[in-house]
Amino acid sequence: MRYARSVAELVGNTPLVQLTRVTDGIAATVLAKVEYFNPGGSSKDRIARNIIDAAERDGLLRPGGTIVEPTSGNTGVGLALIALERGYRMVFVVPDKFAGEKVAVLEAYGAEVVVTDTDVEPDDPRSYYSVSDRLAREIPGAFKPNQFANHNGPRSHYESTGPEIWRDTDGGVTHFVAGIGTGGTITGTGRYLREVSDGGVRIVGADPDGSIYSGGPVHGYLVEGVGEDFWPETYDPSVVDEIHRVGDAESFAMTRRLAREEGLLVGGSSGMAVVAALRTARELPADAVVVVLLPDHGRAYLNKIFDDDWMRANGQDVAAPASDLPALPG
Ligand code: PMP
Repeated sequence: MRYARSVAELVGNTPLVQLTRVTDGIAATVLAKVEYFNPGGSSKDRIARNIIDAAERDGLLRPGGTIVEPTSGNTGVGLALIALERGYRMVFVVPDKFAGEKVAVLEAYGAEVVVTDTDVEPDDPRSYYSVSDRLAREIPGAFKPNQFANHNGPRSHYESTGPEIWRDTDGGVTHFVAGIGTGGTITGTGRYLREVSDGGVRIVGADPDGSIYSGGPVHGYLVEGVGEDFWPETYDPSVVDEIHRVGDAESFAMTRRLAREEGLLVGGSSGMAVVAALRTARELPADAVVVVLLPDHGRAYLNKIFDDDWMRANGQDVAAPASDLPALPG
């Protein structure tokens, strides 16, 4: 019999699928690593498992303990899957701008969710950072993974994402492209691929227009899960050879194309990464193999990127529906 002993065992070993439509006119092979095949639906399942394993080893998390983390989505789901397997209580702190469906998902997994005010400074006692720090202090046996400073995050990608890409391309990968949030994905995966290829794999970052990593002025943007306004400890810029700055409009247009043309319903940070991957691939010969990581599923964005009214309300262009079908009978 072949079965997993728990859903947590299903984390990792996500497939590569070739992009064949959005790559029109490109000679290089472009392969997407589709992280929504993880059981929690995103690449964050990988870091959750590593972070909790390490906390148990280091004695920071003991039986009956509580995991407390400020997170608005994917990391919370990843942590919840592992916490459920091992019997930990989960408390997630979520800013109210992300309330709604994401809170409902965390609660569906049995987590307790504390919603905080978005419109306060980070050092205000009501902010999501302050509230999670206070809860981590006050709850006995609490452990705060702190994904922006926990090196077991990048390590999980060094130990799993990188080796999987090398194995599945038979060592043929020439370029790796990923968006940068905590920086864990690109730091861990990039470091592994560089080492194993003796510097033969080029590491390409994708960053939202408005974020700190790509240099330009820091301002707001709509794509979620990537970009920052501070430098987290989990990001090592020395691993990255080049960074592409990608605007919301281009990221969202590509996200919608991935669903309609490739059948890949993914989030906005995936569209952003694919834009950077295609800019890279366009300059490359036919024997190049570009692997681009797609971090999460698009279902969480149905009321945003895939909703024409939301797009228009947020100043985004929406291509006119190309339908010449007769109107349906009323
Ligand atoms: N996209 C999404 C949707 C994410 O949730 C994250 C994680 N914050 C990323 C991209 C970026 O990954 P990383 O934190 O490893 O840089």
